[in-house]
Amino acid sequence: MFTSISGRTAIVTGGSKGIGFGIARVLAGAGANVLVCGRDEEALRRASEALSDLSGRVDTAVVDVADPESCHDMADRAHREFGGIDILCANAGIFPSVRLEEMSPDALELVMSTNFKGTVYALQACLADLERSGHGRVVVTSSITGPLTGYPGWSHYGASKAAQLGFIRTAAMELAAKGITINAVLPGNIRTEGLDELGQDYLDQMAATVPQGRLGDVADIGHAALFFATDEAGYITGQSIVVDGGQVLPESLMALQDM
Ligand code: NAP
Repeated sequence: MFTSISGRTAIVTGGSKGIGFGIARVLAGAGANVLVCGRDEEALRRASEALSDLSGRVDTAVVDVADPESCHDMADRAHREFGGIDILCANAGIFPSVRLEEMSPDALELVMSTNFKGTVYALQACLADLERSGHGRVVVTSSITGPLTGYPGWSHYGASKAAQLGFIRTAAMELAAKGITINAVLPGNIRTEGLDELGQDYLDQMAATVPQGRLGDVADIGHAALFFATDEAGYITGQSIVVDGGQVLPESLMALQDM
């Protein structure tokens, strides 16, 4: 039904693990060439191996999105390896928990520079290639936390995720003339390797707060990103989509119990 993205080139920041890995798997499965990026070389090697049997070609790059120069190296690598950039999935993010009383300026800066500034730096580095492609697509991984909900310990994280949404609304206007769209996916609680460490009881409790009764799979976010990357989504820009199994819908605990 949708025009294929086969043969197009995608960069996925934070693609070595979790949601980014899921996005990379969906895009490479749809035939896109994918540059998978992260800071840990060993995690990148494992991701590349796990993605090796898909139809798209996969390469990896050690990148720190909080460093603009590193983002430029990333874009150069995609350009050299695959001849350009059609899709940027700005997904890399961190979520250390700390309450306000304990939050140091460095802790605040680290979250903002990775999650928010890292999104901006990655886009700036890829801008020329995305424009040249004639159908540039940027998909930002935000969160329900910040834009829609709150969670103690994550005020800085929530602010960084809300900042991404503020950013894309004006960026979308600047990018429109370049033929580039920019949109965001807001995941609810998604099952990643990190969450698995919390144990089955904890995971079951989390799933019980979701109307659909399950945590999200990384592929659920990958499919939303794939949609934004298609030609058919070309008239959508500056928008966001919540992918959470209905997690933000219950207005109270009672509403959940009454389902
Ligand atoms: P994850 O499993 O910890 O994966 C994070 C990825 O980002 C890893 O590949 C990590 O690789 C990379 N990364 C972290 N800092 C980086 C940096 N400075 N430069 C480059 N890469 C970096 O996390 P996740 O749960 O998949 O989260 C991915 C995104 O989804 C984040 O933006 C997060 O805010 C968002 N999100 C997650 C959930 C959820 O339930 N999991 C819900 C809502 C939103 P290295 O550590 O090797 O660099």
